[in-house]
Amino acid sequence: MEGIVINSGSSFELTIAGGTDALLCELKALLDGTDSGTVEDFIAKTGITCKEIEDYADKYRATWTAECKLQEEDEDYEFRLPVEPYCNLDALFGGRPLPLDLSRSVARNFGVENLAFYIRNRKALNEPHFVWHTHRDRGRFDALVRFGLASMGATSIKKCKEGEEFRLISLPFGLSMGQVGLWLAYLETRAFLLSHTYRMARPLSVDPAVQEILKGWEIMGAGDDAMCPLCRKMDGKRVGFRDKLPPFHVGCRCARVEIFD
Ligand SMILES: [Zn+2]
Ligand SMILES: [Zn+2]
Repeated sequence: MEGIVINSGSSFELTIAGGTDALLCELKALLDGTDSGTVEDFIAKTGITCKEIEDYADKYRATWTAECKLQEEDEDYEFRLPVEPYCNLDALFGGRPLPLDLSRSVARNFGVENLAFYIRNRKALNEPHFVWHTHRDRGRFDALVRFGLASMGATSIKKCKEGEEFRLISLPFGLSMGQVGLWLAYLETRAFLLSHTYRMARPLSVDPAVQEILKGWEIMGAGDDAMCPLCRKMDGKRVGFRDKLPPFHVGCRCARVEIFD
């Protein structure tokens, strides 16, 4: 898979495939937070992929699936992959993109966020949701109506004038809930891992005066149970200028602090 590195000079290069130079500028603006919009939407509309994320998923998918099966058979069976990004691993390995034409149409016509809300609120299609005018999700239900994913009607609850009933309409393009669920899982993990790794790999700006007396860095792992075996090994280690700096893998949470003595 060929691609273009979007963050050269950082401590973990991310290679994006499937985008033009102009699209990658747009992606960088999203990742730098200088442009509004979501990375999920961007991935859905452009079909870009990140080589490092997909390489990781391809390398460990079979092991993950086999280990999960063993765990199903024996609840006490515990396992860790040697390297684990901090994300929903089921979604990373099990998420599935939609064909690009379909993905693009769905994202353009309905918006990834609206579909995610739709899936979170799925009920039997003819079962109504009563939503108060002041409910915190009211705006989202109204958006579903605007995008043709729900209908709104008067409530059947007598004497209640402070809200309406919403009914979800079946998904467009003959999509099933399962298909959309896997697609959202795919988008959410990819967007999260891309944004997180991009941010963690950003070169730290060190004061030139400080740079002269800098001796290296100490690695600080996340320090919780979710820390993966690789990062656990690196936690507390001192590294110098020739060593690899974190992130050590996609979705790595390790940080570093300067050492001066
Ligand atoms: Zn790790
Ligand atoms: Zn780490």
